[in-house]
Amino acid sequence: MEADADLVLAIQLIKSRLPFLVHTRHVYGHQDGQGKRKADRAAKRARDERLRNAQEWTAASDSEDSADEMVNAEKKLFNPAPMPSEEKDIGTSNTTDEVQINIECDRIASETTQAVLKGGVSPPDPVISLPYAGSKAMFHIRGRWITSKVKTEIKRARRSPAIKVYMMEKYGWDNATFESIHWPSVLSVRSNMKQTQRMQSSKLMHGWLPVMHMRQFITGINYCPGCPCTDETLTHVFQCPNPSIRAACRKALAQMKKVGKKKKIPSRIMDAICHFLQVESNGDNKFHQTTHHCTVTTAIDQQLRIGSHMLPRGFLAKAWYTAIAETGCQSPDIKMNALQRIIWDCWSNPIWKTRNEVLHGPNSRYGYALEQSLSAKLLWFQQNKEQVLARSDQFLANIDVSRIDKLNRSTKQRWIKNLEKARKAFEVENKQRRNGQAPITDWLVTLNDRIT
Ligand SMILES: [Zn+2]
Repeated sequence: MEADADLVLAIQLIKSRLPFLVHTRHVYGHQDGQGKRKADRAAKRARDERLRNAQEWTAASDSEDSADEMVNAEKKLFNPAPMPSEEKDIGTSNTTDEVQINIECDRIASETTQAVLKGGVSPPDPVISLPYAGSKAMFHIRGRWITSKVKTEIKRARRSPAIKVYMMEKYGWDNATFESIHWPSVLSVRSNMKQTQRMQSSKLMHGWLPVMHMRQFITGINYCPGCPCTDETLTHVFQCPNPSIRAACRKALAQMKKVGKKKKIPSRIMDAICHFLQVESNGDNKFHQTTHHCTVTTAIDQQLRIGSHMLPRGFLAKAWYTAIAETGCQSPDIKMNALQRIIWDCWSNPIWKTRNEVLHGPNSRYGYALEQSLSAKLLWFQQNKEQVLARSDQFLANIDVSRIDKLNRSTKQRWIKNLEKARKAFEVENKQRRNGQAPITDWLVTLNDRIT
């Protein structure tokens, strides 16, 4: 049931109880324009979906495949439309508990809806005490009634506490620090993003981008591709002294100021944010300036408690919102959302893009380190082939040392991959021998010897 429908039902009930007649009229408003057309299209899509689900449900009732029934029953769970009577007795004997619970919930909901629509009352139940007279709201989560977007709300209720625990543990935040982050702007901006952009913002926020600090577990190399730093973390990416990255930072700052002006974000906030990011990217700690307004100073203090390196990731303090509102500008929510988006679009993503260009560029230190590491590995195989490879495989490691540096990267990688396979096979063979089991290849060699 949509939130609007719930309110309409409540209004209908109030009307019916009034001692006088009330005429209702539709008053055209801004929602009757483009928004109305959009809502109508969404409603049509939802109607089609319901119809499709109902057809699938009927089809599933003829099938004996419990997995299919489970999927269809789950789809049907949130559809409060009363079920036709012939569909009510769907095989209860051979279905799982979850399916039976879903069916039973549907039955109770349908009976209640029908009873109330016919002028009766919902069955007495201590759990059901509706938010207002005439409401047909279905359920509540932690004291909050849910009347629309049911699936989203259930998903959020299930995942939010786990994510909160994860973040507090990972970033060392207490509850007050976690609550001092302006989450509404994160939610609003991300909900307007495309799926790939949303994934990118998640990776950025939680430090899941493939920086060398993360990739070292696969490659064994954690050097920064752009400077002599030996541990490239996400924080380092924004502080890297590589000339290309420094130039990208300068360009990003100029772009931020330009877009901030266009979006009419108060200049004192925009200046403070730009200054903060600049100081953070220089690895400095002079975030405060004497010229800052007191609300901005409070915001900087709160941001520092969250973590200065968290601002480029998109964790903004609530006090930034207060500082924007204090300037007396119009729609501080829209300004805060714009600020959130500017940090991702104009600062973090362009710098990350530049870092990737450095990584794959000709002067990449990572590329050089990787070449060295591959050469060293090939050399190791060449020197230790008698210990780590079976006799029949040792020819694979006959490498001309003088040629190693001339080989290209993909050849070396393919060669090492084959050598690793042979080494693992030899390990398995040795293990089997220790257990007194002769590998089948022994027999093949014997046969071969006899023939020759
Ligand atoms: Zn670096």
